[in-house]
Amino acid sequence: MASGGAAVDLEDVQTVDLTSELLRRLKCASKPDKRLVFIGPPGSGKGTQSPVIKDEFCLCHLATGDMLRAAVAAKTPLGVKAKESMDKGKLVSDDLVVGIINEAMSKPRCQKGFILDGFPRTVTQAEKLDEMLNKQGVQIDKVLNFAIDDSILEERITGRWIHPSSGRSYHTKFAPPKVPGFDDVTGEPLIQRKDDNAEVLMSRLEAFHRQTKPVIDYYANKGILANIHAEKPRQEVTSEVQKAVS
Ligand code: ADP
Ligand code: AMP
Repeated sequence: MASGGAAVDLEDVQTVDLTSELLRRLKCASKPDKRLVFIGPPGSGKGTQSPVIKDEFCLCHLATGDMLRAAVAAKTPLGVKAKESMDKGKLVSDDLVVGIINEAMSKPRCQKGFILDGFPRTVTQAEKLDEMLNKQGVQIDKVLNFAIDDSILEERITGRWIHPSSGRSYHTKFAPPKVPGFDDVTGEPLIQRKDDNAEVLMSRLEAFHRQTKPVIDYYANKGILANIHAEKPRQEVTSEVQKAVS
């Protein structure tokens, strides 16, 4: 029944879309697998850089924050559990996020590898990730540390507008959409995240320094950490990121 459903779905897809997806997959077949982690405080540019690298290397982009916000919006049991911590700028429990990452990584779109954005955020999450990957006989290739001074982040966070269904992010000053308030690709309205304000940012930064900084040391000790100057303009950060993962 399930495969019959999938066949009907494909019949409904426009030939031009099907052909371009086929060409994309053919191009991707020759690319090496890559398993990447992007670590950095809120507003450091992880979500901005991820789509560029995802497209270049045919990876999937797994942002635990985006997945959790989708679960909160859909009021799933997981979303209900996560909401209170997220609203306060605290981390949700390790078990919740490890579960969603484990499921997401097994999707076909992650076949050539992945970018983990916002995960792992605790040493326990990093250890659980290693266990998951060990079982598959693979490992993380590179961890990019989006290093940036806290003082730059308030302006980045309070000016951020996002397109919830795609995760695309804009900035009123640094990356304005073509039409203010609307997504460039779909024309749908942009929103500001509930936790993107100066007050909640303080707790998010506290969580980052206390719980996530040790994860940076964890990967530095494994010799797979690359530091990125995340305070630089967007294009310059992209060049650094491309160099670090190539
Ligand atoms: P993160 O995913 O790390 O929380 P984002 O990629 O969403 O951060 O970036 C936060 C905000 O800062 C967004 O509004 C984005 O447009 C903007 N931004 C991202 N990179 C830069 C940069 N290098 N210079 C200036 N603004 C940036
Ligand atoms: P982000 O979109 O990455 O800024 O994440 C938004 C919020 O989701 C965080 O403040 C946390 O409450 C929660 N969250 C996202 N990823 C994780 C994670 N790996 N571990 C725990 N909580 C997370």
